Amino acid sequence: MTKTPDFSGIPTYSGPPKEAEIQSRLRAVAELGVFRHALPQHLGGLGDNFAELVKTHRNLGLASRDPGLMLAINAHLWGSVFPILLYGSEAQKEKFLPQLLSGQWLGGHAITEPSCGSDVQAMTTVASPLGEGYVLNGEKRYISNVPLADWLVIYAKLEGKISAFLVSRDDEGCQFSHEGALAACRGSATGSVSLKDCRIDADRLLGKVGAGAQMIQKALEYERAFVFAGIAGIMDWQLAEVVRYSRERRSGGVHLGKHQAISHRISDMKLRLDTIDLWLGECARLCDAGQRITLASAQTKLYAAEAFLQSSLDAVQIMGAAGLESGSLMAELVQDAMGGRLFSGSSEVQKNLIAALLGTGDAYRPNPQAN
Ligand SMILES: Cc1cc2nc3c(=O)[nH]c(=O)nc-3n(C[C@H](O)[C@H](O)[C@H](O)COP(=O)(O)OP(=O)(O)OC[C@H]3O[C@@H](n4cnc5c(N)ncnc54)[C@H](O)[C@@H]3O)c2cc1C
Repeated sequence: MTKTPDFSGIPTYSGPPKEAEIQSRLRAVAELGVFRHALPQHLGGLGDNFAELVKTHRNLGLASRDPGLMLAINAHLWGSVFPILLYGSEAQKEKFLPQLLSGQWLGGHAITEPSCGSDVQAMTTVASPLGEGYVLNGEKRYISNVPLADWLVIYAKLEGKISAFLVSRDDEGCQFSHEGALAACRGSATGSVSLKDCRIDADRLLGKVGAGAQMIQKALEYERAFVFAGIAGIMDWQLAEVVRYSRERRSGGVHLGKHQAISHRISDMKLRLDTIDLWLGECARLCDAGQRITLASAQTKLYAAEAFLQSSLDAVQIMGAAGLESGSLMAELVQDAMGGRLFSGSSEVQKNLIAALLGTGDAYRPNPQAN
């Protein structure tokens, strides 16, 4: 079992940080080994498992109360570290993994474009063969970790099929910008990527030509399974805060929590949080057993995103106007939770996926339980 890092030195979220602060927080968590979970030791990982990763992310969420920090970490891990681990050549692993695991480089992945988000197949960014390499043209929008990222896995169509490329912020013809910065999860930085005749060498192709759609699916499965681990820690704080408030605040001569309308909301928040923890544990169990998480990760993401939003609304309602005070984290969490319904595929997309999985291939049948 890995020793849980001591996150007491990581600042607790107290309003939108400047980019330099976001960068220094990410460096600090990297130094505590947060980017090394569930990765083999010979590649610089801790050699532990996904259950340990969930535990660490949850504790970091609780300590930092920063959904943006957790989003940035997840974009880095599932967007760049794991795709390179799973699909990279030996040379790519050697070049990228030590820098990404130590936090010297920050990564992420760029799928979404101004004209398409949910409909990944509609992407218009293109890669064309040029000499020994490729030239990229297109635009990516709402990308986590841009403009701080050093490298991104950028998806583009090559010969009409989605493929993945490793692109540096310093590549000629490539520009990482603040355009389209989002007002959700403000402890992270989001932005755009503009590719105008961006030339890259052949060794920047990640995985096989045309394997991009499958790679996106795999990256998003991991992201959907675990992106709410840190947020569960934040929801734990949110629940404790609401319980404290409802015990201290009085209305009609009794504690707020004595009113059933309030206590029932609190019960629902507790149930949602515990259900997210169960789902996270199930995804970790499946990953650690080498089993597929296509269905479980979509269920986890859908449940957790909706639960985070409902609990954030409940928290503000229970706290009344105090929950909406300017600078209140409770109010910000509502906005963050709206982001949570969109990143890694929207709630609607998860429902489409779950329904499709029940209706295709081995169509759903009743599942009798063993004695
Ligand atoms: C905080 C944050 C961070 C993000 N980080 C990244 C990142 O790092 N990399 C990246 O590539 N992208 C990132 N995104 C973008 C995210 O992936 C997209 O927002 C998401 O895929 C939805 O796309 P869209 O916003 O263009 O909405 P659209 O696809 O235009 O959808 C608009 C609405 O229509 C619904 N809808 C669309 N298609 C269907 C359908 N077939 N059936 C039912 N409903 C449908 C959607 O659910 C949504 O409610 C991020 C987004 C946020 C909010």
